[in-house]
Amino acid sequence: MKTPSAFLSALLPALAAASAAAQPLADPTLEEEARRIHERVLALDTHVDIPLDYATFRNDPGGFTKLQVDLPKMRAGGLDAAFFIVYTPQGPLTPEGYAEARRVANTRIEAIARLVRAYPDEVGVAFTAREARRIARTGKRVALIGMENAYPLGPSVEDVAAWARAGVRYMGITHFGHNQFGDSSNPNEALGDAEERHGGLSGIGRSLVAELNRHGIMVDVSHAGKKTMMQAVALSAAPPIASHSGVKAIADSPRNLDDEQLRALAAKGGVVQIVALDAYVKPLTEEQIALRDRIRKEMGLETTEARAAMTPEVEAEYEKRLEAMWDIAPRATVADFVDHIDYAVKLVGVDHVGVASDFDGGGGVVGWEDAGETLNVTRELVRRGYTEEEIAKIWGGNLLRVMEEVEKTARRLR
Ligand SMILES: [Zn+2]
Repeated sequence: MKTPSAFLSALLPALAAASAAAQPLADPTLEEEARRIHERVLALDTHVDIPLDYATFRNDPGGFTKLQVDLPKMRAGGLDAAFFIVYTPQGPLTPEGYAEARRVANTRIEAIARLVRAYPDEVGVAFTAREARRIARTGKRVALIGMENAYPLGPSVEDVAAWARAGVRYMGITHFGHNQFGDSSNPNEALGDAEERHGGLSGIGRSLVAELNRHGIMVDVSHAGKKTMMQAVALSAAPPIASHSGVKAIADSPRNLDDEQLRALAAKGGVVQIVALDAYVKPLTEEQIALRDRIRKEMGLETTEARAAMTPEVEAEYEKRLEAMWDIAPRATVADFVDHIDYAVKLVGVDHVGVASDFDGGGGVVGWEDAGETLNVTRELVRRGYTEEEIAKIWGGNLLRVMEEVEKTARRLR
């Protein structure tokens, strides 16, 4: 649902023309239909990262920023709702590590609170699916909160209640690296990870799933290892989600989900939010990986910690040098991204598939580089013959249905 505004409709073609990647549909009737559908559906993106200095004078989301998502880009591109992410990189499982993780997580949740307090006329925070729909109907953007990596909880699940009160509505069990709750799809060599640590969920990992169910927080299995993921899906009393994952049959990355995983998620009533991160949409070639690794080595950026600590200047240089990778093979496009959606829809049905950009966390494909280009996703779905009803499900209907189920389960369990 968008603000009905003739001015906005007039602005969209101008923005489209300004972007080399944006391509209005050749058939004017289809183009008209894509715009009409995009205006009407609630477009919800389940994974938008935020920097640590978010909602300060350095990154004011009320104006155009260098970020891929800010309020003007959301309005211009017709992105109605987003889960903003309380992300914590994996560190050591020590009291100091947990304390630092909690500090980082608090910094991010406070930043999201500042966003909604600073722009009350433009964005509202939703704690329930019903609130999300209500806020969207008023023409405001909807902010929801997801947590990526349960590491900041420390060695118990006591804090789940507090995070639920703070508005967290999904929680990813792991990130890169095994943690106290389970094994990751990507063991972290820098942390001394073996292939497995727990053989899936740990004992408190199982308690975590139960506690999330009790507090109405969606269990998010993105970044979890396959055993962790399958165990969490089996254990959860409510439908789980993969907040930002791709299809392994198309792009063979440990981060993506295979057919068995997609079927398990759907059988439980859950949803896979297909991620628009180029390397998970279209895997890098060996030559591209070799070039990337060489650049990282030359710049002393081999570890995730080193990359997380980059200054803006170093990051700019790093990004610039990485551009050479796309001379070897072109980057993934919106069409490549929608191939993942198509595959998942054919495998598990249109009720179990959604959309996640991973913007400002590495996400983006040619044609959907920032929230301002969101219409292009709808265009591609229309081009492929998806109906308005199906597009509404993919763009948020499915996720909000899961959220409602999770709310119901929590009421029943408590
Ligand atoms: Zn992620």
